[in-house]
Amino acid sequence: MAKTIAVIGGGLAGRLCAWQLAQAGWRVSLFDRGGREGGEAAAYIAAAMLAPLAEAIDATPLVTALGRQSVARWRRLLEQLPEQVFLQQAGSLVVWHAQDKPLAHQFEQQLSRAWGGDCPAQWWQAEQLASEEPQLAGRFQTGLYLPDEGQLENRQVLSALGAALEREKVDCRWHSEVSPQQLAGQFDWLLDCRGFGAKTDWNAAQGSRLRGVRGEVARVYAPEVSLRRPVRLLHPRYPLYIAPKPDHRFVIGATQLESESGAPASVRSGLELLSALYAVHPAFGEAQILELSSGLRPTLNHHDPEIRFNRQSRMVEVNGLFRHGFMISPAVSEIAVQLIQALANDAPLPEDEAGLIRRQE
Ligand SMILES: Cc1cc2nc3c(=O)[nH]c(=O)nc-3n(C[C@H](O)[C@H](O)[C@H](O)COP(=O)(O)OP(=O)(O)OC[C@H]3O[C@@H](n4cnc5c(N)ncnc54)[C@H](O)[C@@H]3O)c2cc1C
Repeated sequence: MAKTIAVIGGGLAGRLCAWQLAQAGWRVSLFDRGGREGGEAAAYIAAAMLAPLAEAIDATPLVTALGRQSVARWRRLLEQLPEQVFLQQAGSLVVWHAQDKPLAHQFEQQLSRAWGGDCPAQWWQAEQLASEEPQLAGRFQTGLYLPDEGQLENRQVLSALGAALEREKVDCRWHSEVSPQQLAGQFDWLLDCRGFGAKTDWNAAQGSRLRGVRGEVARVYAPEVSLRRPVRLLHPRYPLYIAPKPDHRFVIGATQLESESGAPASVRSGLELLSALYAVHPAFGEAQILELSSGLRPTLNHHDPEIRFNRQSRMVEVNGLFRHGFMISPAVSEIAVQLIQALANDAPLPEDEAGLIRRQE
């Protein structure tokens, strides 16, 4: 008989794990307090940039290492999903206004240091910039091109994973807020992927601390503007990016605030996000604002993700994807599924060179 597992939390990590467990022969039930569209998940708000190089400046070495493979891993995963998902890998472009040039040199030095040799960033002069991003011609004299970086359409990912779960006959219980304590004893194993929703339980155990880090993004529709890749604007007050999604939709993100408030985006943040947009191209002045939204990134004190397990309570927890969930979740979910399989079969635990796995007994 197939073993049973309850996945609690059907955001990004929960959907990926539930799908892969079902493919591996488990009978999976998935509980989420929100709906199938994923509206309660941080993943619903995210810009879904796959930018390990740009992020290397602030990310830990572990996150950078996990992120390096992310586009290739997503490509393989998306091939198996029943719905099409936008995945772009055209690199990203960093720009700045003339007066902020020192910021560009500082950014490049930080990149080289963080990447550890062979930093692939390239300087683009005005002519190349104009040929690669025609609508930015004449607006910026120089840019820094970061090859290989990619991005996804986050809501398409959630929708396609929802369809994949249905195809694999996962018992999806949307609009079901539950706790591991409530479900204990009803399934062979539990997998907690509640993100920030797991804060109280996570912090009740020994080890790292979980907190929420607030982020706000804007979504606009700008039929007049075409960008071929995400553009990052270096700016002393608001270093932000503009990610072009299908159909002339753009996501502008993201603020990062040490706050666990789930309130709607503030006027200040809205102004900063939209100012960055307007600074990159005035044609964005005519864009329609579709959405200003906020979310909480599930963050551990060391800023790395963790996979914790407890054999007695038969529970595995995946958390701490912070601001890199899309970038690292293919790698993290793969290790989590391998761990659950090994635990259930009393087999040796998977190799964990990255040091993601923590024993809780
Ligand atoms: C503004 C913003 C921008 C971002 N941009 C990027 C980006 O460009 N690139 C990138 O890689 N990452 C980005 N991220 C980060 C990414 O969204 C997160 O790392 C990722 O969503 C975390 O995945 P998760 O599954 O752990 O949590 P979530 O996606 O938050 O999913 C958790 C799920 O658990 C459910 N849940 C919680 N409590 C319960 C309960 N008691 N019962 C049932 N269900 C429950 C919730 O409803 C939710 O669906 C961004 C995040 C934000 C907020």
